Amino acid sequence: MISHSGNVFVLSAPSGTGKSTLAKRLVQEVSDLDFSISFTTRAPRAGEVDGKDYFFVDNPTFDRMIETGGLVEWVEVYGHKYGTGKDWVMSHLATGRDILLDIETQGAKNVHAAIPDAVMIFLIPPSAEELSNRLRKRGRDPEAEIKVRLDYARHELCQFPAYDYLVVNDTLDRAYRDLESIVLATRLRRERMGRQAEQILQGF
Ligand code: 5GP
Repeated sequence: MISHSGNVFVLSAPSGTGKSTLAKRLVQEVSDLDFSISFTTRAPRAGEVDGKDYFFVDNPTFDRMIETGGLVEWVEVYGHKYGTGKDWVMSHLATGRDILLDIETQGAKNVHAAIPDAVMIFLIPPSAEELSNRLRKRGRDPEAEIKVRLDYARHELCQFPAYDYLVVNDTLDRAYRDLESIVLATRLRRERMGRQAEQILQGF
């Protein structure tokens, strides 16, 4: 079990649901919330920056990280490996800042096992048709990979009962407001605010 003082938010969604866009906006607009940059063996897409979107590494480097216990969790999906770096997560959690992990469902399950009070959020596309349109319209992945991603989407959607919050991304702004509300409300939970309330109480 990983001890921590900051909140851990886990955001999962089928590929193409708008998760990366929403996650980026969330860390930009909500204070004291940092994005966990994953390691991947996938090649960068146009516009992606190493060290910002992902740490892009080759297979031997990734495998070394697995062997040396450098990852909190890792998976192989769509023919590529993805993993959450342990050093960054541990050092951030120790400072008490909140962190946001944008990871798929298997990795999310593993994080939940290591951090049982991680706040689990699942983003759902408005419909299968809409997801298929979005994946094709963004034109980032080859058609064969889009098919793989759509197949995996069904599998991922079946995992929603493992999550605390479900947000439907019908419009980006509404989904953003829902996500922001979850983060802000979590920060006001009694177990987080109790010490401050005690101090105020002592003044009476
Ligand atoms: P993409 O190739 O579209 O950037 O990401 C594919 C999937 O991998 C997405 O669902 C994304 O959330 C997930 N992913 C990204 N980083 C990690 C990670 O570190 N661990 C796990 N388990 N999944 C990740």
